[in-house]
Amino acid sequence: STIKEKYLSAPGPFISLEFFPPKTQPGKQNLMARMGRMTALNPLFLTITWGAGGTTARKTLELAALAQRELNIPVCMHLTCTNTDKEVIDQALREARDADIRNILALRGDPPVGEEWDKTANSSDFQHAVDLVRYIKREYKDDFCVGVAAYPEGHCEGEADGVDHNPLRDLPFLKEKVDAGADFVITQLFYDVEKFLDFEKMFRDQVSATLPLFPGLMPINSYLLFNRASKLSHASIPQSILDRFPPEYRADDNKVRAIGVDVLLEIVDTIYARTNGRVKGFHFYTLNLEKAVAQIVANSRCLSKILEEDKDEELVDGIEEIA
Ligand code: FAD
Repeated sequence: STIKEKYLSAPGPFISLEFFPPKTQPGKQNLMARMGRMTALNPLFLTITWGAGGTTARKTLELAALAQRELNIPVCMHLTCTNTDKEVIDQALREARDADIRNILALRGDPPVGEEWDKTANSSDFQHAVDLVRYIKREYKDDFCVGVAAYPEGHCEGEADGVDHNPLRDLPFLKEKVDAGADFVITQLFYDVEKFLDFEKMFRDQVSATLPLFPGLMPINSYLLFNRASKLSHASIPQSILDRFPPEYRADDNKVRAIGVDVLLEIVDTIYARTNGRVKGFHFYTLNLEKAVAQIVANSRCLSKILEEDKDEELVDGIEEIA
């Protein structure tokens, strides 16, 4: 089924999970086993990333198809469109459709690390994500439920050239994607909950009062990765959060993860409470790891309901196993 259909019928709160395709065959098997264990968390849907510039196209399609076939949870395949031929896009969409994948996250994409695009010379059919949304809706009609990306702190484009990025600047373009038929929105990761709450208000006022909006959350698995991921995605880390990681703990991944779980579950519970349930789904960038997400679900005030409501003993045992 589609994310839109499942969202409408799910009271929430619930989670969704992002994975990336591993490079090797054993890596893929490990990940499938892990994704299978994580079904104990009752995710509404799973998403599989698309490597920059289509570098993982084959692996993404294979993993997405396998997960769709074996896990009984709707899969959403990411797809980027700039600097990509229409044939590549069509091939990916047709293969996804043949594999019963009903959801696509329509993205623009970035140039591969270390490369620059000559934007003025871009002859691609797709300049912005909205072009892909329009294309899918026009050519594939109801075959796909389409999601798009949003940036609670603003998209970082042009920052190096002194452009002051803020969410208001991107809002008209997000609205354009929604007007083109986007069915749901997932945000870039963030740690400043107030910034997300401001963004959610803007989104509700200026883009859509009802469209599903999923905050994107990255669990903290190591201090180094936490800082690197935040820098890469231009997410600011409030000083009050940094202060919770004393220097003597920073090299100890277990301690860092435990503090990180507290940070994340506070973010989740604050958002759920302060949006009065308008935000009822939380999207986790898992980095293909399971422990932190399971601990967040088990300990968050709102998300632990997922497990209480699910009286299925096997699921409850399942989550204890992972956490
Ligand atoms: P767009 O919506 O096209 O926006 C890009 C920029 O262009 C923004 O600054 C926007 O303000 C501006 N803009 C948009 N429309 C117009 C217009 N008409 N005129 C002028 N300016 C405009 N990347 C990957 O390679 N693979 C992935 O799997 C992947 N998954 C992601 C998942 C999520 C949830 C998120 C948030 C990002 C993901 N990305 C992924 C990264 C994404 O490709 C980059 O952030 C990219 O820079 C922007 O993509 P977009 O779809 O938001 O682009």
